[in-house]
Amino acid sequence: MTDPLEQFLIEYVDAVGGLADAIEPQVYDVLMPDADTPMRVAFDPDALPEHPSAQLLTFGSALLDDVLARAQMRGQIGLAFLDDTHLRPHALAERVTRDLVLPEAVALRIEQIRPRYVTHTLFWFEVTYLGDEKEQALYPLALDRYYNRQVRYLDELLNGQRFADTRRWTFADATSQPLERAYVAARDAIVRTVRADVHARQHQTQVRLGEQTERMKRYYADLRAELAERIEKAHARGDESESLGLRQNALNREEALRLDELTRKAQLRVQLKLVNLLHVKIPRLFISTRVTAKQFPTIHPATLTLTWDPLVEKTDALVCPHCQRPTFELRVNRQGVLHCAECASSMKTKS
Ligand SMILES: [Zn+2]
Repeated sequence: MTDPLEQFLIEYVDAVGGLADAIEPQVYDVLMPDADTPMRVAFDPDALPEHPSAQLLTFGSALLDDVLARAQMRGQIGLAFLDDTHLRPHALAERVTRDLVLPEAVALRIEQIRPRYVTHTLFWFEVTYLGDEKEQALYPLALDRYYNRQVRYLDELLNGQRFADTRRWTFADATSQPLERAYVAARDAIVRTVRADVHARQHQTQVRLGEQTERMKRYYADLRAELAERIEKAHARGDESESLGLRQNALNREEALRLDELTRKAQLRVQLKLVNLLHVKIPRLFISTRVTAKQFPTIHPATLTLTWDPLVEKTDALVCPHCQRPTFELRVNRQGVLHCAECASSMKTKS
């Protein structure tokens, strides 16, 4: 059976365009594309006496750490397609109108349905909690880059079984929000998630700190009491007690120092780092509609683009033409302007 590390090294070297030559079982000459000379790598410590120049590749070795770090760097940004969805849903117009709530007077006439690839970006954030111990957690988060909205339907597809390296269709890509805006939105969402966790951890730490402080204060109080008794006895005997007095001062200083150290250790620091990005392109149906309303001579906007997601078989929330927030319900004011329910009140005060 091949050693999993041996397998990993051979695959890694092949993936980066290097060469790995087996010299004997578990000993290789490896030439990386950016190196002038090959390096000898051994997986078996027993092979080292015979190959003194060889580097040992085992769990915990610096060489393995280095190779893993390089391999991870290469995988930091990936691209995949998820386009095995059914793109001609039955009775799409009915399904879309059922998903939306429109005023009775308003009708949407579908003019064109066109599939486009919508880019979704998956961010993996590594969160490091630095307290009296170091802990790390990985948080994935997916954004639909057309709307810049967080989506959860990719979570269960992350094993990648449905992902492909190349696109199946020739559809154009939909416009995408700039990556930096998506990053900021993703980071804000992660910060909100992490904040709750940090509060919980901080609470635990503070409880523990309270207990430890209490114990330490008791310990020093005992020592002080003992010392005070000795000073009293020395006084009674008429002995000098100056050195005992100095001990008392030293004890107070030591206590202050150790309490300070406890507080310092109880402080929790959190680091957030983006470690990986994966762009996943998924087809979506873009439905151009014309807005009509009988009693309004003009209606604004006159056209609306809806989108239908074949992956989850749902109409996406509309962008409110007035406040740009996502909504499934549109209303119309007296001037014939479409808006969502939320911005209805602000519209009234303006008009
Ligand atoms: Zn609105």
